Amino acid sequence: MSAQRLVYLDNNATTCIAPEVREAMLPFFQELWGNPSSMHFFGGQVARHVEAAREKLAALIHADPAEIIFTSCGSESDNMAIYGAAETLGPSAKIITSRVEHPAVLGPCRHFREHGYHVIELPVDGVGQLDLAALREAVYGGPSLVSVMWANNETGVIFPMEEIAKIVKSAGGILHTDAVQAVGKLPIDVRKLPVDMLALSGHKLHAPKGIGALYVRRGTRLKTYLIGGHQEHGRRGGTENVPYIVGLGVAAELAARHMDDENTRVAKLRDRLEQGLLACPDARVNGDTRHRLPNTSNMSFEFIEGEAILYHLSDLGICASSGSACSSGSLEPSHVIRAMGVPFTAAHGSIRFSLSRYNTEADVDYVLQQMPPVVAKLRAMSPFVTN
Ligand code: PLP
Repeated sequence: MSAQRLVYLDNNATTCIAPEVREAMLPFFQELWGNPSSMHFFGGQVARHVEAAREKLAALIHADPAEIIFTSCGSESDNMAIYGAAETLGPSAKIITSRVEHPAVLGPCRHFREHGYHVIELPVDGVGQLDLAALREAVYGGPSLVSVMWANNETGVIFPMEEIAKIVKSAGGILHTDAVQAVGKLPIDVRKLPVDMLALSGHKLHAPKGIGALYVRRGTRLKTYLIGGHQEHGRRGGTENVPYIVGLGVAAELAARHMDDENTRVAKLRDRLEQGLLACPDARVNGDTRHRLPNTSNMSFEFIEGEAILYHLSDLGICASSGSACSSGSLEPSHVIRAMGVPFTAAHGSIRFSLSRYNTEADVDYVLQQMPPVVAKLRAMSPFVTN
């Protein structure tokens, strides 16, 4: 990278650790390093901090602290939910998911398909909204596990969880939601919304990488996925990652305290960025702009490769991302963009900007100043542009 400046607009990939989170974690690397499972006072002191963090995280989603299992990441939480519930239900159960899920959900679902389960991947429409009629049809006729995301990591599109829960519950299904991108960005109240399981990840809300959690509603039957000691009430073996758990607790507290103000401010910045970039020729927004995370914008610049734009932006110190996966030398549009039926000419130019509470007006000014000339230059070189 030749630029000195860092404008970080890739917060759906990961976020920086909040200073308050870092401060809170430090004593647990130095003075308070006991094992929370130990009987002695030193372990007990640490265990109290783990439980305090559990309470803070539970408060963010209005859960009972006993319903929170700490894990190592969002992927583990998703895997734990799907493996645990599918094993409990047995192979006569259907597993229902959507085509736009994260690989941490699609992967385990497809694993069970290979092992004889009937797995249904629901379609989405042109703006990335779930086909609820297809869900209604899929849930009837026998036990089912439904795993659909709360908010999409690439487009920010928010699924109508209330309606989804109603449909799944009326058919007696088990509902898991991958809320990795929703927790900390959207108000969530599991007392009002009958989800059975909900996955979240620390590094998406200014806690460190390597910590996550799974909410499991009391009474939900879930086979233990990580067998070991009696930690997490016997639901996940392995000595707890105490510093990171403490960090996640503080991150949850910060999110709960500042969510409303931050959402308004971040959405304003995102909208200004988006409006400014829509002035570029053949620019479009992908996804349902009426039901979208306040921090996310997925845009396409037709006839230009997203990767080429990202490469130039990176050189200017601007971090964004594309949903494309680079495999065997060919640049494929992401499965999310493809599932939405975004035209080929636009799908290849899709770019995700995702903001956080640490972005400023100056960041947006900088991108609006630097990016249009990059787009213009790449368009001039594109073999597909005739005008
Ligand atoms: N689910 C979604 C929607 C995500 O965006 C991510 C991470 O990008 C994950 C799951 C996986 O989370 P983690 O990186 O903590 O494993």
